[in-house]
Amino acid sequence: MTNFHILTLFPDMVLNGLNTSVIGRAIKENKISIQATNIRDFAGNKHGHVDDYTYGGGAGMLMQPQPIYDAYQSVTKNMTKPPRVIYTTPQGKVFKQSIAKELSQEENLIFLCGHYEGVDERVLELIVTDYLSIGDYVLTGGELPAMVMIDTIARLCPGVLHNNDSAEDESFSNGLLEYPQYTRPPVFMGKEVPPVLLSGNHQKINEWRKEQSLKRTKERRPDLLDGV
Ligand code: SAM
Repeated sequence: MTNFHILTLFPDMVLNGLNTSVIGRAIKENKISIQATNIRDFAGNKHGHVDDYTYGGGAGMLMQPQPIYDAYQSVTKNMTKPPRVIYTTPQGKVFKQSIAKELSQEENLIFLCGHYEGVDERVLELIVTDYLSIGDYVLTGGELPAMVMIDTIARLCPGVLHNNDSAEDESFSNGLLEYPQYTRPPVFMGKEVPPVLLSGNHQKINEWRKEQSLKRTKERRPDLLDGV
C-alpha cells in the first residue's frame, strides 16, 4: 500500500480535493492513505511566519528551510528507510505516466508543495530526491501539481481501480492514446456507433481498437511515436 504524505501550507485544499470519487473510495477502503502536514505548525514563532525576503534582493518571499525540515523530520520519524521526496516545481522533469507507474511501487511518498517564490535551496538539497513539474507554466503553489500527481499515481496502486483492465488500456500506458469509445444509445443525433463494436467479434473489436489507437496518436500526438 502506498502512503502519500503532503507537506503544504494548505492541507484542507489537498485533502478536500483528493477525498472524492475513486481516490476518496480508495482511502476509505484502505488501499492507499493520504496525510497532509501543515508546514506552518513547524513555524517555531508565535506569528506562524514560514517565509522571508530573499538574500540578494528580488521580488517576493521565499519559504524558509527550518519549518520544512522539521515537518519532514516529523513525518519520517517512524519510517524504516528514507522515502522518495518529490518537490513539485516548474524546474523539474515533466511528470508522465511512466513516472507515475514507477512511483506507485513505493511504500511512502512525500510531496513538498512550494509557495510564494519557492523554497530555500538548502532544504531542497537536504531532503528532496525527485524534482517534478506538471508542465511548462508557473502556478501559485505546489498543491495542484501534488494533487495531479497523487491522483495519477494512486489509480495505479493495487485495488484502487476496481476493474484492473481499465488502467492497462488507457492512454500512455502502452505509449499510445486510447481508441474512441461509445456507450448507449446506438444512434445519437444521427451518428452511429461503429458497427464492429456491436458485432460481438472480440478479435475484430481488438484489431479495430488497435488501429484507431495508432491513428489517433498519429493525428494528435505524433511525438509519442518518435521513439517507437
Ligand atoms: N520562482 C519559481 C520559479 O521560477 O521556478 C516559481 C515559484 S511558483 C510561483 C510557487 C510554487 O508553485 C513552486 O515552488 C512549486 O512548488 C509550485 N509550482 C508552480 N508551477 C509548477 C509546475 N509547473 N509544476 C509543479 N509545481 C509548480
